[in-house]
Order: sequence, then structure tokens, then C-alpha cells
Amino acid sequence: MAQKTKRAIVTGASRGIGKAIVKELATRYCSDILFSDIVFANNNCDECADEFQKEFGLADTNIFAIKADASSLLDAEITIQAAIDKMGGVDILVNNAGITRDNLLLRMTEEEFDKVISANLKSVFNYTKAALRPMIKQRYGRIVNIASVVGVVGNAGQANYSASKAGVIGFTKSMAKELGGKNITVNAVAPGFIQTNMTKALNEEQKEALLKNVPLRRMGTPEDVARLVAFLCSDDASYITGQVVAVDGGMTM
Ligand code: NAP
Repeated sequence: MAQKTKRAIVTGASRGIGKAIVKELATRYCSDILFSDIVFANNNCDECADEFQKEFGLADTNIFAIKADASSLLDAEITIQAAIDKMGGVDILVNNAGITRDNLLLRMTEEEFDKVISANLKSVFNYTKAALRPMIKQRYGRIVNIASVVGVVGNAGQANYSASKAGVIGFTKSMAKELGGKNITVNAVAPGFIQTNMTKALNEEQKEALLKNVPLRRMGTPEDVARLVAFLCSDDASYITGQVVAVDGGMTM
């Protein structure tokens, strides 16, 4: 196991895929992790960080939590500054925060479109821009953006969400080209159907229909995604950049 020396930020990580990513990074590589979420009740969120430590018992990793809206550039700048103050820098950034507001386009409101683009795509711009200076200065960085398979293949009823995730993929590739010379890798992970709050509204009938298109015949777990993210954040992945890797049980091969 690699020595735990890396410092990471994970957005939208109070539950689901983000929480699993924090756990995986803490278990494998990180001496310090700061995670943000819009749902926290106060700015310090020390209790949330303590709860996380109690649940997973990762005493050799310092865990910090902060309330931040990923769609706000100001909040992103405050998060990065907090990371520098508390952890001394940032080596890994995982842009995970995301929402859905599904509707057929005929019924989709402007607010539903704007909110999803803001939370899923602008958030990636916000945090990447805010983290860039410290990463460039240290000539090291690993950025992983959580996209989705629907950003590649599209999905009826999710024009806003699919467009935001396709945007994340374009942003990822552009950043990989822009930052390669600074020893910063930028990759996207595209999950398929993963068991989290985001997919809990699906009823059994809908799940069964969806699983017909999944060769592995099961929904993924947050840990399935987290293990890939952790690999892309590791030094073993130092020659991988600009890629979009699906974790979807073979659904979009
Ligand atoms: P989740 O369980 O809903 O967790 C997402 C977390 O992000 C929630 O705590 C959410 O808070 C938070 N969040 C939302 N907007 C935010 C903002 N503006 N700033 C900060 N935090 C915010 O969802 P998940 O399934 O773990 O999703 C994680 C990522 O994976 C998302 O980017 C999602 O698009 C992507 N993904 C998920 C699936 C899947 O099947 N689950 C598939 C493909 C891609 P609220 O409760 O307030 O919204």
C-alpha cells in the first residue's frame, strides 16, 4: 500500500458516490481530505467530519467537512482556501456534486435546465479554476470529474442532465490538454446505474427494464465507482489523462 501523503477535496460527498470516494481515498492514499456538500447545516461541519471518522475509523487520515454550494465560484474559492489552510495544499480534486431534475423537454422549465447545468457543469469549472493555481505551483495534480454514461449516449427525459454531463466530458478533455505540461492529469468517470439517493425513485419494474441492458445484470454500488476514481488519483495512473472511463456493468460498450 502506498504511503498516505496526498491531500484531496471531494465535492457533494455527504452521501452516495462522493462518500464512498472519500472512504476509498482515505483508506488508500490520503493523509488529509476535505469534503464539501450543500446539505450541511453550518459552516464548520466538524460534527460531520467526526461522524465520518466514527463510521469508518480511519484515524490516520485527517477528515474535514465544509458547507459549500458547488455551483458558486465564491464557495469553491472559499473551499480551496480552507483546504490550503487546513491541509497545506491540494493534490487531488474530485468533482462529484450533481443533481437531476428530469422532465421531457416539452415540460422542462428554464429553472430545471439552469439548475442542473449550474450544479453539474459550472461546479466543475468553479472547483477546477479555484484549485488550479496551487496545483500548477506544485506541478502536480489529479482531477477526476464524475460524468455519466448519459453524457455519452443521451437519455430521454434527461436533456438537461445529459447536456451537463456531456459538457463535463468536453471540459475534462480540454483541461487534460491545457494542463498536461504541468503534470496535472484530468479524467472523467462515467457511472451507469448506481444505487444511491439519485436512483432510489426507480420502481422495481423500471429497474428490471433498465437491467435488461446491463450485461452484468445488477446496479453498481458507490464503491464500484470509488475504486476506479481512487485508481485514477493514484501514481499508478500517472500516464492516463483526458479519458472517459465507464463504470456501468457493460451497459454502453
Ligand atoms: P446523491 O446521493 O444525490 O449525492 C449527491 C450529493 O451532492 C448530495 O448530498 C447533494 O445534496 C450534493 N449536491 C447537490 N448539489 C450540490 C451543490 N450544488 N453543491 C454541493 N453539493 C451538492 O447522488 P450520487 O448518485 O451519489 O451522485 C454523485 C455523482 O455521480 C453526481 O455527479 C451524479 O450526477 C453522478 N452519477 C450518479 C449516477 C447514479 O446512478 N447514482 C449515475 C451517473 C452519474 P442534495 O441532497 O442537496 O442534492
